[in-house]
Amino acid sequence: MKAVVYDDYGRMPQLRDVPEPECPSGGVVIAVKATGVCRSDWHAWKGHDPVSLPHIPGHELAGVVASVGASVRDWAVGDRVTVPFVCGCGVCSWCLAGEAQVCPDQTQPGFTGPGSFAELVPIHGADTNLVRLPDSVDFVTAASLGCRFATAFRALTTHGRLGSGEWLAVHGCGGVGLSAVMIGVALGAQVVAVDVNPAALERASSLGASAVVDGGAVGDVAAAIREVTDGGAHVSIDAFGSPELAVASVRSLRRRGRHVQAGLLLGPKSTPPIPMDLVISQELEIYGSHGMPARDYPAMLALIEDGTLRPADLVGHVIGLDEASAALATMDHPSAAGMTVVSLDDSRPGEG
Ligand SMILES: [Zn+2]
Ligand SMILES: [Zn+2]
Repeated sequence: MKAVVYDDYGRMPQLRDVPEPECPSGGVVIAVKATGVCRSDWHAWKGHDPVSLPHIPGHELAGVVASVGASVRDWAVGDRVTVPFVCGCGVCSWCLAGEAQVCPDQTQPGFTGPGSFAELVPIHGADTNLVRLPDSVDFVTAASLGCRFATAFRALTTHGRLGSGEWLAVHGCGGVGLSAVMIGVALGAQVVAVDVNPAALERASSLGASAVVDGGAVGDVAAAIREVTDGGAHVSIDAFGSPELAVASVRSLRRRGRHVQAGLLLGPKSTPPIPMDLVISQELEIYGSHGMPARDYPAMLALIEDGTLRPADLVGHVIGLDEASAALATMDHPSAAGMTVVSLDDSRPGEG
């Protein structure tokens, strides 16, 4: 099969022929129809998040079940599916409680094993991790859900408990951030969006943000947000992942506010100096959000089916697998063009 592979960190990935994956006993092999290009893949490629080499990246996938392991109960060849980027083992106490996103024996396509920049990808624990796609949700849209859109959805609902009329501050308007803006607006919140890229702020406004703060022009972002929101945001999210943004997010909250860390903090100097004095005196809540388990997808998919959420609007470019290497390599530059999704739908004529 064709796959995008890199042999060393930072070395340009190549599209080449590799052996087809074997089907895990409790898992499936999925014929990939679409796969998102995400900054997490870029982090792994740069060596911030070690993987075994050579490596196939890609973790935001949608496709069709191509083969099924012997012990799989609920899935059959031909099913249209997506998966969370964190796949639970399916047998530990966390998975059995529906919390596969923190499974100690988790697998992650594109990180702990081969990913979805390929015609076929193996997925473990199918009965725990596969999500059935409604017919109305196409593969490119489904690939754009995970990890960024799903991460933003769970960050704002499960952790942030964002309510209608509340203020949401979104720090960083990349894939997770713009998803958070769209979801926040759909939930009836007032959104203030922060970025240093004017084009990203424009995009946030067009998605319904009530206010924007240019982090490059304002000295104290947190103070600017507290002013705009008349006392601070009820919920604030670091959607990019940097110590500076994490601290600004916490400082932009009102009393009893909730900060959610969704952007990954990787690499050197990645631990934010969270002001715990404020956390105590203002009873702030600090959450980490690690994707979304398959169990929680139906609620989000229902809002996509009825048109409340429109993740397809966040897709900027649809490219071919032969363009994926170049797209991955440019993830170090912030872009307001929207998510890039690789489509493989036409590359395997006669299949799927
Ligand atoms: Zn588990
Ligand atoms: Zn991702």
